[in-house]
Amino acid sequence: MSKFIFITGGVVSSLGKGITAASIGQILKSRGLKVFMQKFDPYINVDPGTMSPYQHGEVFVTADGAETDLDLGHYERFIDENLSKHSSVTTGKIYQAVIEKERKGLYNGATIQVIPHITNEIIDRLKKAAKTSNADIIITEIGGTVGDIESLPYLEAIRQARREFGYHKTLYIHNTLVPYLKAAKEIKTKPTQHSVSELKSLGIQPDILVLRSEQKISEEAKEKIARFSDLKRNKVFESLDVDVIYQLILSLKEQKIDEAILKHFRMNKIQEAKLNEWEVLVDKIRHLDKVVNIAIVGKYVQLHDAYLSVVESLNHAGFKHGVKVEINWVDAENVNNENVKEILSSSNGIIIPGGFGKRATEGKITAINYARINNIPMLGICYGMQLTLVEYARNVLGIKDAHTIEVNKNTSNPIFIKNIDNKKRLGAHTITLKENTKINNIYNTNNILERHRHRYFFNKKYEEIFLNDNNIVLSAYSQNNDILEAVELKEHKFFVAVQYHPEFISRPLKPHPLFLSFIESIIK
Ligand code: GLN
Repeated sequence: MSKFIFITGGVVSSLGKGITAASIGQILKSRGLKVFMQKFDPYINVDPGTMSPYQHGEVFVTADGAETDLDLGHYERFIDENLSKHSSVTTGKIYQAVIEKERKGLYNGATIQVIPHITNEIIDRLKKAAKTSNADIIITEIGGTVGDIESLPYLEAIRQARREFGYHKTLYIHNTLVPYLKAAKEIKTKPTQHSVSELKSLGIQPDILVLRSEQKISEEAKEKIARFSDLKRNKVFESLDVDVIYQLILSLKEQKIDEAILKHFRMNKIQEAKLNEWEVLVDKIRHLDKVVNIAIVGKYVQLHDAYLSVVESLNHAGFKHGVKVEINWVDAENVNNENVKEILSSSNGIIIPGGFGKRATEGKITAINYARINNIPMLGICYGMQLTLVEYARNVLGIKDAHTIEVNKNTSNPIFIKNIDNKKRLGAHTITLKENTKINNIYNTNNILERHRHRYFFNKKYEEIFLNDNNIVLSAYSQNNDILEAVELKEHKFFVAVQYHPEFISRPLKPHPLFLSFIESIIK
């Protein structure tokens, strides 16, 4: 049976609880254990698919097609495992499931209450994660901060989980802030004390504390924290601000957090952690000698988290090539023919990321045109590919009002249209790459598996016109040959646009081939 680690946060949000959870996941994985991760989000949306990227950052898509919180992206990148819809639980989902059961009469007329119905449904999600993943360890991060009204049912559920699964099969890790007061030149343990008391008042005695701090925490302070938390000193760990996030994996390992965890679970005879690759990576990141500047021409650029996986993928490719990637955040809404050169000329490459709706599309098309004409490496992603074809149709093929019906329903030349069942295409699908194309060369294989999230599709009526052009290549299709998946230009340094989201599968130790090749085209 799986063992469960629950990660809660105290004092403030944005502590890096997700990164702590994911780092622990990687350490345990490197000890040969199968790890699965899960996030419980206290908001009432059923999923983040419809939430504004301004509020919530990127929507991460799992291989099985769930639209999830961006934390799942961190988890996948850190533990290098594909997660699933069972990894993403929201209050909206829980209530939806309970209400559906109630409507079907499955509760036999009972009065539906938070305890036990909602809490049981939450516990069910733990069991489902265990059952479907077959993992040795399930790590569940509870979103929000202890003390929030919204997270109470989750805390109650994980409290009950110990009663149900047993003491040695459940472990509570509490992540708190230990602030440093500059004026007093002191770190303060009181907020942690309050947070631990709050957690205890809900019936949860943490087994491990991870203390987030800007400054080193003295032995004496750790001892004090351990005492008021009823913990042995060796159950108290620190997570100091790091220059490279992956350093946290190494630092928690150095403090032997895995020993504390495995001891609690009574799991011995587990192989030693092998983290050399991460050590090499962290060292490499600290010594990147060149810089490349990449423009991300998007619509939600004020909140950088809206493009989190794209930025991470660029970084991964940069690490491999020994270059630091700097981002030129370009608000596509402000881009026009007059200023495009000024805005983009300082960048070595251009990314046109995914997006939705009408706003800022003309600016993106202008940027694509600039990249195409000036031989600037460009990678178009999802909406980026759709607009790449619109730009080409208009400016090269002479179809002046070419557009996607997402922007102009009445265009007489709809290059992108909806599919018949009007459903969003989500999750991983197999794609066949045309032989002897750049993309075929980049992947060095004929069939690939990539994740999708789109509602509009290339209109095959226009295929012939594109095929007759001798520079643009329609270079990849879905397995059944129905859906156009990628285009490229023959005569260009790097001009590739794809219908899928390569950024969702790039990993720090396994950079994605498209991003690798994009960066390579810039530095060679
Ligand atoms: N808005 C486009 C569509 O729905 C592209 C989506 C995206 O870029 N993720 O097809």
